[in-house]
Amino acid sequence: MTRTTDPAPAAGGSLAQALRTLPKVELHLHLEGTIRPRTVRELAAKYEPRSPLTAPDWHERYWTFTDLAGFVTQMRQVSLTCLRNPDDYYRLAGECFADLAAQHVCYAEVMFGFRGPEAPYPIPYPDLVAAIEQARREAGAISPLRIGLLPSLIRTQPDSAVPLVQQALAERERGAAIVGIDLVGDEAAGQDFAALAPAFRLADEAGLGLSAHAGEAAGPESCWGALRLLGARRLGHATRAGADPALVAQFRSERITLTMCPTSNLRTGAVSTLADHPIRAFYQQGLAVTVNSDDPTHFGATLTDEYLLLARCLGFSFADLRQLTLNAVEGAFQPAAVRATLRAGVEQAWSAVPPA
Ligand SMILES: [Zn+2]
Repeated sequence: MTRTTDPAPAAGGSLAQALRTLPKVELHLHLEGTIRPRTVRELAAKYEPRSPLTAPDWHERYWTFTDLAGFVTQMRQVSLTCLRNPDDYYRLAGECFADLAAQHVCYAEVMFGFRGPEAPYPIPYPDLVAAIEQARREAGAISPLRIGLLPSLIRTQPDSAVPLVQQALAERERGAAIVGIDLVGDEAAGQDFAALAPAFRLADEAGLGLSAHAGEAAGPESCWGALRLLGARRLGHATRAGADPALVAQFRSERITLTMCPTSNLRTGAVSTLADHPIRAFYQQGLAVTVNSDDPTHFGATLTDEYLLLARCLGFSFADLRQLTLNAVEGAFQPAAVRATLRAGVEQAWSAVPPA
């Protein structure tokens, strides 16, 4: 039996139990942000025995950030301390994919970073992708989880963007499951869309999907730039997009997929309270909204937790959550035939009477 044929919840069953076992789709997930707390401890002990990350309760004591800059600083410290060679990435990816499979995620697109030779502990790009790919193939052999990979381009480093896409395309030629690109980095630092555009054009011409974080730390103009100047079809967060009704109308008419991450936005201060989060309003306005976990280790919430949060705190019904899942299938960077298969599996599993 595959997870897409798991029995749907019986009437009267618990919503939480149903959401744990129903097939789900994750489109906004950073590989480095999935590292298990225990793995952090073990790798920190190996590389930097005096690091505070070796403490048994580092995870409870350490995450004190209250804004995006604080989060980025701490995420970077964990990554630099723990992820130093392809073996570390192989372990990271294997555990990430196992955790997704355990949540009955049927399809995930996973972003990953790359440290160039100028950075500490650089890993050659082919070795990095080979490590992730080995974990992906092994996960695919023991579970029905399907994975697509997206290299992250850094918006403040436009000179590295075209070479990175070229390297990604070379790895795809060798069989890597690279399905798109994403744009990350500090929106508030200013963005040179013209300098980033050639990389997006190259990726588009090669058939990769185009995604960008936008509208999280900057306003609607950042979303407009990603759409008009980069050609993005998916936007990450877009929590500030509602300030511009024309932008919202554009999202609707162009069927732009929004990969929203409520817990992340709350933890980084992108929204002040959960009640201020626009995901419900955007959904009710007919936008192609999806729900995602972003960096589950660092924000303390899995994809299943995010589904539950929407149900318990933001008024999403069982049917609404089913629709979010189908929106994610629609927004996946996969051929139509693959999306049709995913859609059939989701529809079948979510079609029974919802839990009370
Ligand atoms: Zn993100």
